[in-house]
Amino acid sequence: MRQRLFRGGIHPFDGKGLTKDKAIVSLAPGKTLVFPLSQHIGAPCLPQVEKGQNVLRGQIVASPSPGSLGANIHSSVSGVVKDIAPRPIIGGRSMAIVIESDGQAREVPFVRPDNILSFTREDALAAVAAAGIVGLGGACFPTSVKLDAPPDPEPAVDTVILNGAECEPYLTCDDRIMREYAEDITRGAALMRRFFPDARLVLGLEANKPEAIEAMRAAAVETGADLEIRVLPVMYPQGSEKQLIYAITGRSVPSGQLPRSVGCLVQNVATVRHIFLALIRGRPLMDRVLTVTGEAVANPGNFRVPLGTLVSDLLEAVGGFAEQPGKIIAGGPMMGVALGRTDVPIVKGTSGILAQTVPMTLGAPEQPCIRCGRCVEVCPMGLSAYRLNRLAVLEDYDGFIEEGGLDCIECGSCSYTCPSCRHIMQCMREAKRTAAARRKANKE
Ligand code: SF4
Ligand code: SF4
Repeated sequence: MRQRLFRGGIHPFDGKGLTKDKAIVSLAPGKTLVFPLSQHIGAPCLPQVEKGQNVLRGQIVASPSPGSLGANIHSSVSGVVKDIAPRPIIGGRSMAIVIESDGQAREVPFVRPDNILSFTREDALAAVAAAGIVGLGGACFPTSVKLDAPPDPEPAVDTVILNGAECEPYLTCDDRIMREYAEDITRGAALMRRFFPDARLVLGLEANKPEAIEAMRAAAVETGADLEIRVLPVMYPQGSEKQLIYAITGRSVPSGQLPRSVGCLVQNVATVRHIFLALIRGRPLMDRVLTVTGEAVANPGNFRVPLGTLVSDLLEAVGGFAEQPGKIIAGGPMMGVALGRTDVPIVKGTSGILAQTVPMTLGAPEQPCIRCGRCVEVCPMGLSAYRLNRLAVLEDYDGFIEEGGLDCIECGSCSYTCPSCRHIMQCMREAKRTAAARRKANKE
């Protein structure tokens, strides 16, 4: 098969050696857990519990309002609701349900379907929706909505891509999930046929995960899943949806369009495993596997963490710091969000916590653009990053939109490569929010 490579891209230091051989360890919940009502794309959920109410692990504590985009939120502990109030979260503030654990992990009875073969497509969609699954690669799009393609969309979805690329430096949780739960993933992939019976199933992952490649190949044979395994060159941001689709199918998703427009659907491998857990074991999304890493962390590794766990509790549970961190990031170094505080909860989209040492975070000051064009060369979306950066600084949002600024996938390749240390991606991220909000307001 001919290898296609998307345009642009970079080879940052990958830092994966810190954790890629660390098996997943399950962590017990802390005393206080926080469940933000906004942890998916769409409107915030509505609380389904009241202050003072006792809850069980696996109980729905918040649900999307009728007709809105969203996903159920389940408690990851048994205990009592202590508060429903605004709380700091990664990247801002949100209304949240605060639950104090009783340490007993009393669960709701999880109902395993008697016979998945008797499930209709609607039954399967309802089970995925009830489980509160969202895209665990960070996009947080409600999975049941993504799977609910009209029976005859134009064009039909003919390719379902499992995203195991995990191109973000330092993060290895998807690698470990593929190595340790390969059969769950292949069975989950087979279940995708409930939604797209005629589509081909392709797993895309980078060549730097040889153990995962072998595990997934063996599991595909063992389970009889008709899953094509496509090993891709190591290039950041290979795991970005549009770049992955191009690498696997040669199709380019047009500006402003979804993968469906080119007959594709992409699901992260951890998401596919949770589809399996929901449909076969009746288990909702209550925890997730993430990577805690960085040169400042005493014991980097991969951990299964109850959702709602505070980052401070998580860091303490894994042994704290080897040295004073200069910066703590939710996610990876390229696309992650710097944390100003650690009393914020792990949510569905948190794939990692990275703590860098002080010397690693002492960046050189921003300098004026020298028009070297490197940011343009590496941009996988073909954008003139330096021009967009200038338009954003000038607050020319109409110009920003005309130049394609909303197509920016916030990969950070431009910032990484800029010799003038310009904070292009951060600037793009803010400009995109402002430009999109203004465009929406102008339409109303
Ligand atoms: S952050 Fe945006 S502008 Fe910069 S390289 Fe990535 S897609 Fe291009
Ligand atoms: S890489 Fe930096 S200095 Fe070079 S053109 Fe882009 S913004 Fe300007």
